[in-house]
Amino acid sequence: MADNHPETTAPVIVRDRIRGSLLAGAVGDALGAPIEFMSLADIQRLYGSDGISDYAPYHGRLGAITDDTQMTLFTAEGLLRAYVRGNLRGICCITSVVSHAYLRWLKTQGITPSASIDEKHGLILLRALHSRRAPGNTCLSALQAMTAFTDRKADNNSKGAGGIMRVAPVAMMFHDRADQANYVFQLGKESAWITHGHPCGYYSAAAFAVILHALLCNEPLEVGIDRAEQFLSVNPDADETRRALARGVELARQGTLPREAIPTIGEAWVGEEALGIALYCALVASDLEHGICLAVNHSGDSDTTGILVGQLLGAKYGEAAIPERWLAPLELRSEIAQLADDLFQHREWNLDEFDFDEAIVQRYPGR
Ligand SMILES: [Mg+2]
Repeated sequence: MADNHPETTAPVIVRDRIRGSLLAGAVGDALGAPIEFMSLADIQRLYGSDGISDYAPYHGRLGAITDDTQMTLFTAEGLLRAYVRGNLRGICCITSVVSHAYLRWLKTQGITPSASIDEKHGLILLRALHSRRAPGNTCLSALQAMTAFTDRKADNNSKGAGGIMRVAPVAMMFHDRADQANYVFQLGKESAWITHGHPCGYYSAAAFAVILHALLCNEPLEVGIDRAEQFLSVNPDADETRRALARGVELARQGTLPREAIPTIGEAWVGEEALGIALYCALVASDLEHGICLAVNHSGDSDTTGILVGQLLGAKYGEAAIPERWLAPLELRSEIAQLADDLFQHREWNLDEFDFDEAIVQRYPGR
């Protein structure tokens, strides 16, 4: 398809939004990592009444990412491989190729998948990713049960946050397709339901993808939220996700303070609570740094709410808004930035069936 949408924002700005989103997400994940399983009282005892605002050691370093970012990167790689495959072969089931990417992530967690995987290209070659960072049980068990690449809903009833935490690249792939929010919703839903079978597990991911997509298309956060609400409203089984979304938005509009508002929504171990908390924090944040600090300092899944708010505010404010003290020590910073740039410019790649860019196909083989 020609990349000539006159209504899209100038490329340099969009590139900055995507880099900002992917990097700030990883930064939020890294800030929340050491306090993921702590109560707010324990966080305050360790880091003071304002909570954590600088990296603390996690897995032997500062700025270490968790499974949330690991899986997000594999989502990006899966989508880019699907794009290459679709161009070279003319047909592709995107969700299946993404499931293939998650099986490569499973291998990095020390578990050999039942289906055969490509171990010779891409992220799986990065030694730093071969590290367990408190991976979610549902992701592990659903992927272990997968015997072939699939776009089918997992055979479980999990509403965990493992779908929403990794979905952002779905929005980034369609940054220049403002009219395809519906498709972003569908793909966000499918990419989550291959591991999470409860509607809250996958509708929260679908809604988040649509909201992030709006920001990347230079629309206000509120417009994305209204659009996600519309898409959810036509699915009767999305009611629970809708209510959590509405709760987060309402608490922000009422001006309820974070320490009262966030526990009212929940602890973010499940998808719909992660969505509600992320929206609340993004709506009340005065800037990116403030929003990420709000997002991680609560009793619950701090790295997941950190990654989600980082992604939303990184898309809104761009890479330059990320404090250098967070960016400089970030694990895999340059690899994350490279993936962001690939998500931005993939439509310009030369992928003609008989005359394609070899380096691109090496990086993202179409499988
Ligand atoms: Mg995590």
